[in-house]
Amino acid sequence: MDNAHVTALVTGASRGIGYSIAQKLLESGATVIGTARSSKFPGDLVEQERFEGIYVDLASLDDVRKQIKPLFDRKRAPNVLINNAGISEDAPFSSSDSEWMQNWNRTIAVNLTAPSLISKWAINRWVEEGDGILINVSSRAAYRGDTEQFASYAASKGGLVSFTKSVARDFGRQGIAAYSIAPGFIDTDMASEVKEVYGEEYLTRDLSFDEVTPPGQVGEMVAFLATGKVKHMTGATFHINGGSYMI
Ligand code: NAP
Repeated sequence: MDNAHVTALVTGASRGIGYSIAQKLLESGATVIGTARSSKFPGDLVEQERFEGIYVDLASLDDVRKQIKPLFDRKRAPNVLINNAGISEDAPFSSSDSEWMQNWNRTIAVNLTAPSLISKWAINRWVEEGDGILINVSSRAAYRGDTEQFASYAASKGGLVSFTKSVARDFGRQGIAAYSIAPGFIDTDMASEVKEVYGEEYLTRDLSFDEVTPPGQVGEMVAFLATGKVKHMTGATFHINGGSYMI
């Protein structure tokens, strides 16, 4: 895989799926700008000349504007954007209205609003360049819903898929492709939280494999999509869920 022509912006690159995406992109020759909210970036990323780490809280649009927008004014702006960072926080239907709204607004802000704004900046630059690839990390929750406590999460991820399809529909002629990734349980801190609540067997019982899906499986797919070799798959969702359901 040769991604030497790629400068990728990967949100949430400090841990989990985003870390793996950053590793695979770097391995394939890309330059990577990774973001985190507060964690330190892993040493193997930081020590690479082709990696730059940026701190931004996606829940704050002011912060997003300050830290991310200028990247798209650079001479070598990102030509691949991976909106990966996300949160999965519970608020059951029995919670108070204020708890419900707090959870709803925060989840939509981080998982949908910030990715939409960053995508808008990217696409406006890519229209000028005639090239660009958008990859949004959604979730299987977009396709099969989630438990009632995570209804805001499923709604945010469903919104992200339809947003991605709109980009795919209208910007292909300008050289832009857009894809969604819909992971099932992936072995990261986010899945550990689910494991703590429901137990490990809950994560593997519907799978075709005995292990929870390793993050590298998503990293490999993203690194391949970043090459630009399958632009005519624009609008597609890639389901990486260990065979938990097939679509
Ligand atoms: P994770 O291990 O919890 O890592 C989350 C990443 O997002 C971290 O880099 C974190 O930064 C960053 N982040 C979180 N909140 C942020 C905020 N407010 N502002 C900026 N950055 C923020 O998550 P993951 O499991 O790798 O998930 C990555 C993506 O895959 C998410 O969109 C998630 O919804 C999706 N997904 C995951 C699974 C799964 O089973 N793991 C399944 C389906 C979909 P810090 O390190 O600084 O906190």
